[in-house]
Amino acid sequence: MNINCPICQNESTYKTFSFSSNKKNINVYECKQCDFEYLDIWDDTDFVKSLYSGNNYIFTHNISKDEKVALKFDEYKNNYSRIKPFLKKDTHLLEIGCGDGKFLDMVKNDVASVECIELSLPQVLKLRNKGYKCYDLMIEDLKIEKKYDVICLFAVLEHVANVENFLTVLKKFLNPDGNIFIEVPNRKNILFSGFKVESFRRFYYRDIHLYYFTPKSLKKLLTSNGYKCNLETSQQASITNHFHWLHNKKGQENANVMTSIYIPNIDLEKQFSDVLEQTDNFYRKTLNDKGLGDLLFARASL
Ligand SMILES: [Zn+2]
Repeated sequence: MNINCPICQNESTYKTFSFSSNKKNINVYECKQCDFEYLDIWDDTDFVKSLYSGNNYIFTHNISKDEKVALKFDEYKNNYSRIKPFLKKDTHLLEIGCGDGKFLDMVKNDVASVECIELSLPQVLKLRNKGYKCYDLMIEDLKIEKKYDVICLFAVLEHVANVENFLTVLKKFLNPDGNIFIEVPNRKNILFSGFKVESFRRFYYRDIHLYYFTPKSLKKLLTSNGYKCNLETSQQASITNHFHWLHNKKGQENANVMTSIYIPNIDLEKQFSDVLEQTDNFYRKTLNDKGLGDLLFARASL
């Protein structure tokens, strides 16, 4: 257990929440200097590794229960469109924590090579079957003399133990003019930081998420480790999902729980859905302009 801030090592931190997981009591601490919350298990490498070993953690994308419904916000497409301007025919790309390789499938024809790191054994086998060069080790244990132009960390940085050490090791694998693309949940999302929905807060903390970044804390972490960075947010959940959190104290339960707009099946459907669509677009834009979107995206370079 370590209550010191992983970014600034400040010891004057505050306990903000507690929960139990795998018979372990876990506490959430906050460093006000860094605007940062983290679990007190953040440097317990063995416990963190145990969360992912064998078949313990298999990430599958939150796909619509109704396959015919297109996602309004597609995380993969969003990441791809942000990264696309940095991809060239001679780019060597590494994705860490690539899950089933959906992003690699999208990007592989744009670049010279793609490789990946994944710890979940079923996913590793699937990736290798698809022909991907996949390392099944923590990057700290990876003994290869290679550098990459683009390194992708989508929904990964909040999972790694000893995040400062991880970022230091990562430099060895980044070309001097390369870029690291990071996507993490934004704790400064409007449900958490603005509306202060208590049920959302309880839903938000989980043992696999060791860190709860805000734009300020992610920037501080990256710059204190020698990276330059640009940050932006995206809004994944729709306005109707937020209405559900505000009034029902839980997320929207129809297909595309995180991302869809709920369109009632009534005669006014078209007219009404247009209003909802425009309202949702305006809501998303306003949140992102203020850095309150639920996903935080950073481009880091040396
Ligand atoms: Zn701190």
